[in-house]
Amino acid sequence: MQQLIEAANHFGIQLNSVQLEQFRLYRDELITWNRSLNLTAINTPEDIELKHFADSLSVLPALGKEAFEGSPEVIDIGTGAGFPGIPLKIAFPCIRLTLLDSTQKKLRFIEHITTRLGLENASVVTGRAEEIAHDPSHRSCYQLVLSRAVAKLPALAELCLPYCSVNGLLATYKKGDISQEVASCQNAVEMLGGKIKGLSEVTFPGLADGRFIVIMEKINPTPLKYPRRPGIPLKNPL
Ligand code: SAH
Repeated sequence: MQQLIEAANHFGIQLNSVQLEQFRLYRDELITWNRSLNLTAINTPEDIELKHFADSLSVLPALGKEAFEGSPEVIDIGTGAGFPGIPLKIAFPCIRLTLLDSTQKKLRFIEHITTRLGLENASVVTGRAEEIAHDPSHRSCYQLVLSRAVAKLPALAELCLPYCSVNGLLATYKKGDISQEVASCQNAVEMLGGKIKGLSEVTFPGLADGRFIVIMEKINPTPLKYPRRPGIPLKNPL
């Protein structure tokens, strides 16, 4: 766990023994469930600690710890095996976390792990982000929306910005040369009521391989026609 401890320090937080024990349990359960469910390609203890856990926490310098203080409503869109939502919930137990994914089997693992880790105020939603976004109990309800490895920015903005409350933030995890992707989403972001707030590179040595956090801010409500039907945002991005 040494690398995770160092990464967390680098990102400005100190993990206590309870949190480290939760990460250990999460890692071990992920490895066990992965044997039958194929949840993630990353499968060694060291890789899970660095590329899943530490990477999930890497949003902290870009967002600031304040974004997680005062029990904010947070949603992770396309959470898969829980990333980045669950590591952030372990680090900031006071957040109210919703984990959304369209794949039932992944959510079975999520339900198991949130119970096993004793996480409170962590709920699971099964369905397509495009559809759930029109449900009033989720639309515009979140101060912070997170998403990692789900889609390119123009489509991702359409899937995620409807969930942000006005003045809320969307933080996405990106890798590689993203200048083109950022340029190509400007139009979509504006149509969806958002604004690109900033882009910051992840600098922790083990993760400094071209990872970026892109932050968007919701400045106006998203027009009701967005997101479009499932599959359309990806097939035909704004
Ligand atoms: N965020 C996780 C998983 C990434 S894989 C991680 O970083 O490890 C992408 C995940 O997004 C998959 O679990 C897939 O089921 C989910 N997903 C993709 N499109 C979606 C959509 N339109 N609505 C809901 N979930 C979606």
